[in-house]
Amino acid sequence: MDLSYIINELGEEREQYFNAMAPPIMQTSNFVFRKVDALSKAFEDEMSGFLYSRGLNPTVEILRKKLAALDGAEDCLVLNSGAAAIFAAVVANVKAGDHILSVKKPYTWAERLFSVLLPRFGVETSYVEGGDATDYAAAIRPNTRLIYLETPNSWNFAIQDLKAIAELARSRGILTVVDNSYCTPIYQQPIALGIDLSIQSATKYIGGHSDTVAGVISGSGALIRKIFDNEYLTVGSGIQPFNAWLLLRGLRTLPMRLEQVTQTTHQVLQYLKKHPKVEACLFPLDPEFPDYERARKQMQGGCGLLTIVYKTDSREEIIRFCEALQHIYMAVSWGGHESLIIPRCAGVSPAHFRAEKKEHRMLRLYVGQESADYLIADLEQAFLAAAGG
Ligand SMILES: *Cc1c(COP(=O)(O)O)cnc(C)c1O
Repeated sequence: MDLSYIINELGEEREQYFNAMAPPIMQTSNFVFRKVDALSKAFEDEMSGFLYSRGLNPTVEILRKKLAALDGAEDCLVLNSGAAAIFAAVVANVKAGDHILSVKKPYTWAERLFSVLLPRFGVETSYVEGGDATDYAAAIRPNTRLIYLETPNSWNFAIQDLKAIAELARSRGILTVVDNSYCTPIYQQPIALGIDLSIQSATKYIGGHSDTVAGVISGSGALIRKIFDNEYLTVGSGIQPFNAWLLLRGLRTLPMRLEQVTQTTHQVLQYLKKHPKVEACLFPLDPEFPDYERARKQMQGGCGLLTIVYKTDSREEIIRFCEALQHIYMAVSWGGHESLIIPRCAGVSPAHFRAEKKEHRMLRLYVGQESADYLIADLEQAFLAAAGG
């Protein structure tokens, strides 16, 4: 399906709402019935029509159609956070006694789900280092039910071979789930590579304006229905109409925002790679990135997030650098209009800081919609200020 068609037309039935160009925010909790038969049908199958907005809502329906098409999937669900999407996709597909095989160091709240919440219900998780199908094959157990991937990972950009791991899993009857937040379906199409469920945090690039939190799960109609009938309705974690409307608005400019960030990321990366205070840069589409070939094989693009290793033996210098930045904000998240930075040492107490550990000197930078010159000037003055302290 044509990207322009998906973004501008798919799912929009303008004649239903006065031919308005922008879709309405259908801010209603419930829907009226005139016939008992129709009500019975809705009770039987909440996916068959509008009953109550914890299930389906017309504004959310427009978004679902577009996001599923972007993912090349039969269907999708939009939830009120990326974390809720991870929770629903995983919990829907495991039961007591099952084993999950996860990529090492998945997103924080996925790891919390695996290490704290699921063990209470008899589901065990082990972690795989490496991105080859053989690394996963070696770790599969008789009770492995689900393989959880995140590629690229949002800190070190570790890449897993989606096609090969999907094939392996399918041959063993194991379900695959991938967190595709870094790439979005514009730059990586996990479903086409054979992955069962593709998740993304829509808070990041889909929303794109740092004003709403949301998540998406895409997959086959059957897998999506299973999640809808149980986790989605039971937990009540669906997106609200206004937030869905914000995502629809964000989607209109998604391709051009990614294109812009791609260009700027490249320029900022070239600047950082030459800077004497930068020991190393990690970016999956940099030819010097260890897993570059694999990244290039399965990603059509990638942008925004990159990690630098600061050349210093002083935690204070890193802190001075971050605090000297004038236009690049220190904040979590990414994917919005504004550039951001997070120093790894914020999570390491001064007593535990070890300069010989590269990780402790890492800073994750997100390149936003500002111009490259503007960002480079800010980085340059902050490097100088940090050194002078
Ligand atoms: C932000 C993020 C999430 C979680 O999404 P929320 O919308 O914040 O709940 C999951 N995975 C990755 C890679 C993320 O960056």
